[in-house]
Amino acid sequence: HSYPDGVAFLHGQYLPMSQAKISVLDWGFLHSDATYDTVHVWGGRFFRLDLHLDRFFGGLEKLRMTIPFDRDGVAEILHNCVALSGHRAAYVEMLCTRGASPTFSRDPRDAVNRFMAFAVPFGSVADAEQLQRGLHVAISDKVRIPPASIDPTIKNYHWLDLVRGLYDAYDRGAETALLLDFNGNVAEGPGFNVFCVDDGKLSTPAVGVLPGITRRTVFDLGAEAGLAVAAADVSVAALRQSDEVFITSTAGGIMPVTMIDGIPVADGKVGAITSRLMAIYWRKHEDPAWSSPVRYP
Ligand code: PMP
Repeated sequence: HSYPDGVAFLHGQYLPMSQAKISVLDWGFLHSDATYDTVHVWGGRFFRLDLHLDRFFGGLEKLRMTIPFDRDGVAEILHNCVALSGHRAAYVEMLCTRGASPTFSRDPRDAVNRFMAFAVPFGSVADAEQLQRGLHVAISDKVRIPPASIDPTIKNYHWLDLVRGLYDAYDRGAETALLLDFNGNVAEGPGFNVFCVDDGKLSTPAVGVLPGITRRTVFDLGAEAGLAVAAADVSVAALRQSDEVFITSTAGGIMPVTMIDGIPVADGKVGAITSRLMAIYWRKHEDPAWSSPVRYP
């Protein structure tokens, strides 16, 4: 790799990751006033980049941010970051912060929005061992920030509930956390959506969660494979009694869960439908309808 730690695009320049720095006065840092999206490159190909660009530009509009690039411009920057880094498995982020106000005013309209992007080596929520035997999760008592406070369709960095949930999970011997919504139903976890399988039917929470691209991909794969997939409330009791549970994220794809609060899900083994979807998911990375090649130098 030309740049093992990755490459960033910042202040109109491509830089090694270690040199990509922003002001501490940026509202993204001071107030979590930012939106972002992450897409991955696998086998030298972007996976469903169009969907990630749609979500990112949707977030910009809702937050009233403007950047000096259109979709093609952003796509080109992402391509360049990956190509320059030399990585064929990369985690690629585009983000926009409110920026800093040149006059230190408290009016967000005075800030100059700042677009940046970077490509770093691919990382997963679950490591190889966890993918094989399934993750151990804990249900947190922290409630996921409600959609009336932060519109979850704007991909955001309001992660304090998720991070505190993670520490709760670690304290209880689990590996990651699931947070509930304001009604006590299952919501999502730190960087992932959740699905359960019952009698061959899949369900995932409908509201109060990020509309994940991997979640959307499970709907698409389900339709192709003739599996029923529904967005509906998932109660904690239903989750605990499921035949299979898995989580979904750009950072790792479809990942099995085999233990909830120290109690095995069904027989405690990775489920058949989960395994099948995992295999199809990775195969889809070679399909030109779902992925596009990075133009490496
Ligand atoms: N929920 C949250 C809170 C997330 O941050 C993420 C991804 N970072 C997801 C779900 C999964 O979304 P995607 O499949 O698009 O990566």
